[in-house]
Amino acid sequence: MSQLDIIDLHVSIGEKPIVKGLTLTIHSGEVHAIMGPNGTGKSTLSKAIAGHPDYGITSGDVLINGASILSQEADERARAGIFLAFQYPSEIPGVSIANFLRAAQQARMAEGEELDASAYYKRLYSKMDLLKIDRKFTSRSVNDGFSGGEKKRCEILQMAMLEPKFALMDETDSGLDIDALRIVADGVNTMRGPNLGVLLITHYQRLLDYIVPDHVHVMYDGRIVKSGDKSLALELEAKGYDWIKKELAASAA
Ligand code: ADP
Ligand code: MG
Repeated sequence: MSQLDIIDLHVSIGEKPIVKGLTLTIHSGEVHAIMGPNGTGKSTLSKAIAGHPDYGITSGDVLINGASILSQEADERARAGIFLAFQYPSEIPGVSIANFLRAAQQARMAEGEELDASAYYKRLYSKMDLLKIDRKFTSRSVNDGFSGGEKKRCEILQMAMLEPKFALMDETDSGLDIDALRIVADGVNTMRGPNLGVLLITHYQRLLDYIVPDHVHVMYDGRIVKSGDKSLALELEAKGYDWIKKELAASAA
């Protein structure tokens, strides 16, 4: 059982404040969805938590099981259990998925420790079976010429192999077609369980038809301005975001 605490987090890009005091706690076993209009800081939030160097945390804290991760580099945060699924995954021609995942596993091990190849492949294939991924898939170069759906499959397989404590999944604006959407949803639903917490960032309610969240938060202008259960996502789908802005304006007046 793990806990991710985001406490009054402020993030700037250059001099510009983007995330302006965001607080959220995620326990393992829970799926939280963050929705919100474009430009509101959703991607900035996930990159800052993962440790992207361009996203400066100016105040607040991020804790895993009570310990701050802010002094850690991105790779240390990954080892501490954070996984960031990319909105636009990079292509790595010439590096097979099998070798890429193997290197990722090796990188997480202590110095001098060697990954056992046969144990690695056994684990890889069991994860692929679990996710119903064809064995041939892993001999292809990472994301090289992949369709949107194949990129998502590659990403989900990485997540399954790395077994993060917390997965941050930024699917905003990625124009997922229905095939890719199902791959993400099936993958997350397969891995969903007491050892994984998920922060699902999505612009569209549609994804939440397949991955039913425990909690839904609306992010606006760098903060969470409303939280609720899955019905909040349906309300947003029906009414858009304007009513939230009006509510905020009314409460500020
Ligand atoms: P969202 O994911 O909610 O659409 P983002 O976090 O991508 O929002 O962006 C929030 C704000 O930060 C926007 O105004 C955007 O223009 C700005 N921004 C995002 N990334 C960068 C960057 N790398 N450099 C400068 N500004 C950025
Ligand atoms: Mg975004």
